[in-house]
Amino acid sequence: MHRNRIVALPAVCVLIAAAIQPARADEISERAHRLQFSSIVLDTHDDTTQRFFTKDYDLGKQNPTGHVDIPRMREGGMNAIFFSIWIDGRIMGPPAIQKALDQIDAVRENVKKYSKDMMLARTADDVRRAHAQGKIAALMGVEGGHMIGNDIRMVRIFADLGVRYMTLSHFYNTEWSDSSTDKPAHNGLTDFGKEVVREMNRQGIVVDISHVSDKTFYDALAISKAPLLASHSSCRALCNHVRDMSDDMIKALAAKGGVIQINYEKSFIDQAYKDAYDKEAGGVVQHLSELTKNCNNDEACISREMSKLQEKLTAEGKLPHVSWERIIDHIDHAVKLVGADHVGLGSDFDGADMPEGMEDCSKLPKITEALLRRGYSDSDIRKILGENTLRVMEQAERVSREMQAQK
Ligand SMILES: [Zn+2]
Repeated sequence: MHRNRIVALPAVCVLIAAAIQPARADEISERAHRLQFSSIVLDTHDDTTQRFFTKDYDLGKQNPTGHVDIPRMREGGMNAIFFSIWIDGRIMGPPAIQKALDQIDAVRENVKKYSKDMMLARTADDVRRAHAQGKIAALMGVEGGHMIGNDIRMVRIFADLGVRYMTLSHFYNTEWSDSSTDKPAHNGLTDFGKEVVREMNRQGIVVDISHVSDKTFYDALAISKAPLLASHSSCRALCNHVRDMSDDMIKALAAKGGVIQINYEKSFIDQAYKDAYDKEAGGVVQHLSELTKNCNNDEACISREMSKLQEKLTAEGKLPHVSWERIIDHIDHAVKLVGADHVGLGSDFDGADMPEGMEDCSKLPKITEALLRRGYSDSDIRKILGENTLRVMEQAERVSREMQAQK
């Protein structure tokens, strides 16, 4: 290097630094784009299934409302999805089974109808195969143990139909497990509830502990031979909601290999919003129960009505604005607590009220970019985007093989 060139260096540096600043920002965006579109991006909770039963919805077309369809999944790089099988938790016995089967059939038929874009996935390997073929992997999770109708054989039948996780309860207690949003009735899991968890292990169905009471969570954790998944829950340390997990619960979940999949619902991620909403609407659970009645159990209607009410209250200044960046705060909190191997994404799209900036699944690359800006490595981001869930599925598959071999 020539000395006379170095003399002019400070001025040149200022110029270069000025020029580099915006280029740096673009570089991170480009890196985020490459990472997003080469990774398996697996969202573990989407209530889109309810929309299959409405006339104006088409999975294959871009819809003006809602959060998920194939064009927007393609745009956001979301290439694996757990369609939620959900019915109101107060429906029990044979009618619950029948309604669950209606929904399982609707998912399977939609996947067949759009087989150029989608593939039904039963295993982690299936998800990887779908990704290699440029297809979206469609998975199913039963959101509420009430849908087995107190008949343990349904666990096996659901497994055969392709169900890969089951949430032990929804908003209400089942006859064998307590919910976080109901009065405790069983002190966690009953003996039959424990039997259900063991049968789920045997069938390779991942045990989902979102929605359950804290005691049900600890009971399931003690019984399950495979790691647990919280398919759509956030961090109670940042937003004190019973649907979220305390730091102690997240640590216990992670210690046994499990993963918390962060939920984007505004009242689960932002304390100020939750407090204001509780004050205005008498609590989300109470309001949901009224809407459930008025909407005749149609979750798409419930979600639409909830959004309308929340938009009205926000416009009137009664509810604070919530930025999508709160999602990143929850991911970051959980990662700092237990490491990047135990955190993932469980949006609750089409079943929850999204924060500003995360209007639908096409906005997902923002999460990857924000994590890069916070200094996350590519490999940690890939884990959060989907690899952690695949690991939990693989472990559930291994436990299932071992248990079935012992028979
Ligand atoms: Zn839910």
